[in-house]
Amino acid sequence: MAMISSKDAISLENKYGAHNYHPLPVVLSKGEGVFVWDPEGKKYYDFLSAYSAVNQGHCHPKITKALVDQASTLTLTSRAFYNNVLGEYEKYITEYFGFDKVLPMNTGAEGVETAIKICRKWAYEEKGIPENEAQIIVCENNFHGRTTTVISFSNDPDAKKNFGPYTPGFIKVPYNDIDSLREALDQPNVAGFLVEPIQGEAGVVVPDDFFLAEAAALCKKNGVLFIADEIQTGIARTGALLAVCGDCSCQGHCERQLSYTRPDILILGKALSGGAYPVSAVLADDSIMNVIKPGQHGSTYGGNPLASKVAIAALDVVRDEHLAQNARTLGELFRSEMQKLVEKFELFVKVRGKGLLNAVVINDTPESDTAWKFCVELKNKGLLAKPTHGNIIRFAPPLVMTEEQLLDCVSIIESTLKEFTA
Ligand SMILES: *Cc1c(COP(=O)(O)O)cnc(C)c1O
Repeated sequence: MAMISSKDAISLENKYGAHNYHPLPVVLSKGEGVFVWDPEGKKYYDFLSAYSAVNQGHCHPKITKALVDQASTLTLTSRAFYNNVLGEYEKYITEYFGFDKVLPMNTGAEGVETAIKICRKWAYEEKGIPENEAQIIVCENNFHGRTTTVISFSNDPDAKKNFGPYTPGFIKVPYNDIDSLREALDQPNVAGFLVEPIQGEAGVVVPDDFFLAEAAALCKKNGVLFIADEIQTGIARTGALLAVCGDCSCQGHCERQLSYTRPDILILGKALSGGAYPVSAVLADDSIMNVIKPGQHGSTYGGNPLASKVAIAALDVVRDEHLAQNARTLGELFRSEMQKLVEKFELFVKVRGKGLLNAVVINDTPESDTAWKFCVELKNKGLLAKPTHGNIIRFAPPLVMTEEQLLDCVSIIESTLKEFTA
């Protein structure tokens, strides 16, 4: 079969697909580890990793093998019956992250919806909040997905405008503002606090040290569930198994058990499958999860044997290949190299991030197309990254990258900067 050209692939998408994305003009037809290729054979470093879904690298052979083996054995039974893989997966993932139970779903947004439902039900049945009165505190500039309820508490006009009427029951506070959180917790009928440990879509906004720990402590004091959306930050991306671990790769994945902030509800997605299949999960202890009874929540594909095997393999890879440690080491190197470029070139204002979830702020307004043009130049030089909010570029390569490859990428960024500012 002749391979379709990049030009034809783009025009097909434009003609037949809904225009709900604005992709960088590059077509990808193959991936392996930190690299992707276009149909014409040009090779690129992937510095987006499908928004941190491909932490384990593209087409990781162990994950692919798990997928292929299970795909030819049994793929879907629905939860009308038991299957012989789900229980093994549930034991594996709950032990891996240290919770009593898991509720398996498919996409990240479904995971968030699931967490909201569990939190509300817990509020009425365990905490005694009057029915339909529960409030969940969320943060300004959050990103938790695209479903109707989730966009109800977004403040991105593109995500929200003309999709109303909106789901009530959410209180918004500024991110990284412990005093505002404390005030909001004093309002009546608060059931939960839903937060991203680092705001990825907002431009890799890292909170102050101990914000998460203090927020979790305040929630505990007020009898409110601390709900961590680690769909993007979790599974080694930020140099720890979870970003709430702060400076520590917890759960036996490292020696330094420093400041583990344990959420009451943990939401995972994206890298839970290493990019092979949509897999998300909500984890909590029995006292919370047991509010969900048969018939009250579910998904046809949630917890299917294919997803279960893929997720086990994906988490095995994270542990066996020490991806949290690698993300931490390479992240420090990357930020120190970017800091040199910030000092050398006016176009780069600032670098920030944790592990291998980093962003550079471009010296222009959020309305400008400078970051977009810079990313197009990076693409021409063989590195794929995507602007967020106009003047911010997120740099998030697969965590299987080597130091040598990272330094190669730094030199691509530097030479693009030289040309761009010449
Ligand atoms: C990507 C993401 C989601 C939504 O996940 P989908 O699989 O796209 O539905 C939710 N929360 C965060 C923090 C994310 O990064």
